[in-house]
Amino acid sequence: MTAIHAIAEPAQDPAYAIAMAQFNAVADRLGLDDGMRALLAMPKRELTTNFPVKMDDGSVRVFTGYRTQHNLARGPAKGGIRYHPQVSLSEVRALAMWMTWKCAVVNIPYGGAKGGVAVDPKALSQGELERLTRRYASEISLIIGPHSDIPAPDVNTNARVMSWILDTYSMNVGFSVPGVVTGKPVELGGSQGREEATGRGVAIVAREAMQLMGKPLQGARVVIQGFGNVGSHAARILHQWGSNIIGVSDSSGGVFNPKGLNPSDMEEFRAAGGRYCDYPGNNCITNAELLELPCDILVPAALENQITERNAPSIQAPLIVEGANGPTTPAADAILKERGITVVPDILANAGGVTVSYFEWVQGLEHYFWSLEEVNDKLERIMTHAFNEVAAFSRRESVTMRDAALMLGVQRVVQAVKLRGIFP
Ligand code: NAD
Repeated sequence: MTAIHAIAEPAQDPAYAIAMAQFNAVADRLGLDDGMRALLAMPKRELTTNFPVKMDDGSVRVFTGYRTQHNLARGPAKGGIRYHPQVSLSEVRALAMWMTWKCAVVNIPYGGAKGGVAVDPKALSQGELERLTRRYASEISLIIGPHSDIPAPDVNTNARVMSWILDTYSMNVGFSVPGVVTGKPVELGGSQGREEATGRGVAIVAREAMQLMGKPLQGARVVIQGFGNVGSHAARILHQWGSNIIGVSDSSGGVFNPKGLNPSDMEEFRAAGGRYCDYPGNNCITNAELLELPCDILVPAALENQITERNAPSIQAPLIVEGANGPTTPAADAILKERGITVVPDILANAGGVTVSYFEWVQGLEHYFWSLEEVNDKLERIMTHAFNEVAAFSRRESVTMRDAALMLGVQRVVQAVKLRGIFP
């Protein structure tokens, strides 16, 4: 078998190396032939755009954005849009590939995609951010659409950004197309429960994993890296279910409180301009220290490449639930396996977001909207079913949950490719 290596690009993002190493290992296990391996290793279609934005001071800056569609065999492309200074084509490629496997693991009818702009959105005014978003949306309108490729929020993007994309796309075609994005506000056809869906999914699989390990969720000590959309909702829901959130962090650093933190109070404190460190009773720590805290559940919910061969030997959590995409390197994975640490992998653990995005898309196509209870109930069923399928696969094949999830996901995509055949 020929291993497919990184596509040439000046600087490869570590996420791409992680995604390719995972894919090559799973392709070996599944015995994929060279043609199928090459087909699945490469993105189907990708767009790079360098586009100008008028800044508030009258100058013009050129930004670079991407949209990659990895594989469309199981349905339209689906995946978030990220705004971050380190966004690169290879990072977007990796994230798009993970979206393909993720949609297949939870068995929703989508292929994988991802997009992003290399920008620090915190350095832009609201007006600059809107103009950047609208121009980027116009540029990628060539390949996105409600039946072809449907973006959603990711790091540093949210319902506000999705509204601008929806409006820009609609202005360009001349009529309203709410189905072009998910994660939009409920007032514009968004779904109840979408904003918290990824965090809720993380909490559900954490609960299922604890049950499988014969440990109580009640009183379990939880540490969460990245207190954004995914991390903060996961923290709030696990706290509601009786767990003890003892450490959280964001890009500025972390805090630790062995007595437990109240996630809602922390969010309010932060929203009012406070620093986590100054919250009464908290100890300030670095993100590196946070990952090594003694706890029962560790949830990396920030960015890729956080648990590496350097810190994997010092992780004290017996259970890691990956809220972020690609937080663990393959070398770290091997160490965690050796140490008997259970990892609920990203493509299963954070699939709640794309699942409720799918619900949003379905509700929009039917023009008929569900209650929060209906959404949460359907999410609960899909997440627990996927968790049980992956856990059973892992037991049956004596592989880690990551290998099981990847094998299950890749197998489903292979089956779809074979059923459709090769055009022409
Ligand atoms: P977000 O922008 O809402 O939050 C990211 C958080 O991580 C912020 O608190 C930020 O300060 C923090 N952070 C950034 N760099 C950090 C660092 N080096 N160390 C510690 N914290 C850091 O983003 P999000 O939507 O919550 O996404 C987080 C992760 O979850 C990403 O990997 C994303 O791809 C993944 N994800 C998101 C969704 C979704 O629905 N939003 C769905 C699936 C997966």
